[in-house]
Amino acid sequence: MAAQEVKKRGFMSWYFGTNLLLRILLGLGLGAVVGLFLAHSPEYAGGFITYTKFFGDLFVRLLRMIVVPVIFFSLITGAASITPHQLGRVGVKIMGYYLATTAVAVCIALILGVVFQPGAGLGISGDAAAQAKVATMPPLSQVILAIVPTNPAESLTKGDVLPIIFFSLIFGIALSVLRDSKNEALAKNATRLFDICSTVAETMYKIVGGVMEYAPVGVFVLIAVVFAQQGPKVIGPLVFVTLLCYIGFVVHVVVTYGGVLTLFGLSFVKFLRGAWEASLTAFVTRSSNATLPISLRVTEEELGAPRSITSFSLPIGATVNMDGTAVYLAICAIFIGNAVGAPLGFEQMVTLTLISTLASIGAAGVPGAGAIMMLMVLEGVGLPVQAGSAVAAAYALILGIDALLDMGRTCLNVTGDLVGAVVVSKNEKTLDMSKW
Ligand code: ASP
Repeated sequence: MAAQEVKKRGFMSWYFGTNLLLRILLGLGLGAVVGLFLAHSPEYAGGFITYTKFFGDLFVRLLRMIVVPVIFFSLITGAASITPHQLGRVGVKIMGYYLATTAVAVCIALILGVVFQPGAGLGISGDAAAQAKVATMPPLSQVILAIVPTNPAESLTKGDVLPIIFFSLIFGIALSVLRDSKNEALAKNATRLFDICSTVAETMYKIVGGVMEYAPVGVFVLIAVVFAQQGPKVIGPLVFVTLLCYIGFVVHVVVTYGGVLTLFGLSFVKFLRGAWEASLTAFVTRSSNATLPISLRVTEEELGAPRSITSFSLPIGATVNMDGTAVYLAICAIFIGNAVGAPLGFEQMVTLTLISTLASIGAAGVPGAGAIMMLMVLEGVGLPVQAGSAVAAAYALILGIDALLDMGRTCLNVTGDLVGAVVVSKNEKTLDMSKW
């Protein structure tokens, strides 16, 4: 109480004393208005971006700063805080949830794509193909092998998320076994190490709280820059495909997540009220990884899920559970097929279902990762992106508006992770029901 009083009357009380959601929404609204103005007045846009980019980058960097330590220490704490037996059971449940919801997301996208046929009649030819960016996908076996770090310290310094997750999980499981050891001295030291890891994780969450106080400024700049750069390009068929993706995102949130929550006897509205901070951060940062610290905090503090579940389900979810990316991949692949006059047939649709699910799992939780995965999807449905081809031109069109699509899909990706953590906690009877 006394601390709050001091906060109210202290440094920049007009800012820190105002509700955080209100401040963030103000930043979002103002950013959109300023960005749209700049899109129509390109003479000011360059200067604005040059002088304000710093503040947006600062926000993303502050979030990124805590990502590796948060993943590392919270995964160790998570894996070590439950017995190996429990970890197996909860792990199977959460992975089952991730796969099932992603498959449903792809189905929703396919239905929307088949009914509304985005890109039909666009008639793109190979002429504009020079703008296409061609990237290469490593083979699947390489992707899987890369999950196992040859040098965990190198993965930590480079910030390679999948190897870090793999190593932290193994480390945590080993620590959990040692805490149970018959050798008392060993068990005591293992518990000490566990306490240290859990305190470091706790310290990270404190830092997250501080970083969020800066969020309104970061949000304003990030949104203004995206709108300034993308605004005029969002026209015609691209508006349509963007709208269709967003309809897919909303349908998945309301029908799938709403349905799953209701099935578990939890209020959808209360969930949204508790989850907004993480969903909104995902929307503006376009990165599940960068949002992870916020996801962890709100799932525990606002939604009442225990750390034993959040600290390992959310880092894994931020990397492999990407329902928004799956929706985007399926709808945009249909768009590209239609746009080049080669609509996908039944067999290609079946392949699309499978490959969109896998590609979404493989996409990293960083901005634009889904657009790279799109190359794998297009290859899989027989529409390879080759320099100079019509497919490459259509792909370039989608790349042009990727930032807008990325905002929505990342928001869905993160929201899905939160739902997973909450329902598995409920199922494990560890959810703090006083928050509901
Ligand atoms: N940006 C997305 C995420 O971080 C991944 C993607 O590009 O689809 O969740």
